[in-house]
Amino acid sequence: MKKTMMEMPWTEVRDAVEANALVLLPLGVIEEHGPHLCLGTDTFTAEISCRHIAAQLEESGIPTIIAPPFSWGICQATEGFIGSFRIRKETAKSLLFDILSTLADFGFKEAYGISGHGDIEHNIMILETFKEANAALPLGARFCFGRDIFIHYGVGERDLNVCPVPPSTITVGNPREQDIHAGDMETAVMAQYYPEFTRSDIAKGLPPVRLENERYMEWMFSRNMAAFSKDGYLGDPAFYGSVDVQAHLEELAQRFSDAIRAVRATN
Ligand SMILES: [Zn+2]
Repeated sequence: MKKTMMEMPWTEVRDAVEANALVLLPLGVIEEHGPHLCLGTDTFTAEISCRHIAAQLEESGIPTIIAPPFSWGICQATEGFIGSFRIRKETAKSLLFDILSTLADFGFKEAYGISGHGDIEHNIMILETFKEANAALPLGARFCFGRDIFIHYGVGERDLNVCPVPPSTITVGNPREQDIHAGDMETAVMAQYYPEFTRSDIAKGLPPVRLENERYMEWMFSRNMAAFSKDGYLGDPAFYGSVDVQAHLEELAQRFSDAIRAVRATN
């Protein structure tokens, strides 16, 4: 698996600058993920996605480097639950901007944000920061963001702060309830890549917890996770064994690397 900058000496980072590598920036939070997954789950899954996307980009001849994972995004729906760190939006924006600014100082020309977390305030924070970075820095900063939700954020296909990614079209699991938070998908990825941080014994004994579609926005803005799930998960972690993790990550890496190649081809 490809390393991140955290695991490299500076000389390898310099070599990547000289090779005009593009940067993938994993974007996560530190957040409760039920009694079976660690607080770093969204940061780890963003990093795992980056390792797979980087491999596909490099196969097509595009030098790629992965930045140190950013863990200090915004927990909105789970705010107030033990384990969810409350980071102010201005703190997250300042820190993310400083990271992008440093990458530009190193000499990188392009950075693509890859998120492991879906809260609305978190997405808005990233979109705003990447927009400000584009205006202020000699760096093309794009957030790889779901094309299907652009309309909810007032984002356009040709905006310079986004890389439009189409939604997944494959089914890789068989949960009794959809994975909204810490369900079968996240549990499966963590059990495969970070088994030492995953309580699969506990996951196997958890009952499915449902969130009705019409209550999604209520949950997102409630800041009262315990009212929806006292254990802090929504989905079916017990069924994680039926998820085809390799198929999921290969399809994800294909969609994201295709999207990155597409924006590079038109700029
Ligand atoms: Zn998560």
